[in-house]
Amino acid sequence: MSVLNIVTTPDPVLRRKAHKVTDFGKDFQQLADDMIETLRDAPGVGLAAPQVGILQQLIVIEYGDDDDESVPKKLFVVANPEIVQRSEDLVEGIEGCLSIPELIGSVERSRKVVVKGLNRHGQPVKIKAEDWLARIFQHEIDHLDGILFTDRTDKVWQPTEEDEVPAD
Ligand code: ZN
Repeated sequence: MSVLNIVTTPDPVLRRKAHKVTDFGKDFQQLADDMIETLRDAPGVGLAAPQVGILQQLIVIEYGDDDDESVPKKLFVVANPEIVQRSEDLVEGIEGCLSIPELIGSVERSRKVVVKGLNRHGQPVKIKAEDWLARIFQHEIDHLDGILFTDRTDKVWQPTEEDEVPAD
């Protein structure tokens, strides 16, 4: 495994649409492993393939409850993810992005989403996510469409030491 270089704005690759994954062979497995390692190294809570310059529909998310370390972190590797259901109730929350290191922002997102996609072996998965996990999924899936969190809000600012934000 190796840590990949994270692309930052204004690199145009972040604005392009990613292609569906069709081949779950060796190269794809390597990419998934490298993205997990890159995410942990950053460290961040989510990473989408375009953020490492690869236009494939692949996201990795690793998220745990910071207030309760006895609960193990959960790792999600999802290819071709799609939001098939989203709650009407919206919540604002502060987001950062590994590809926009100098800014954070307050973004409105659905509080709950249902995501369908394929796991790293190409088998169908369905994930019900709430709160922070739902936010991370929405943020990462946006990356696959070339959308950044700064497109979804005008409330962006440079973080100070008081701002504690998980990066994705
Ligand atoms: Zn991001």
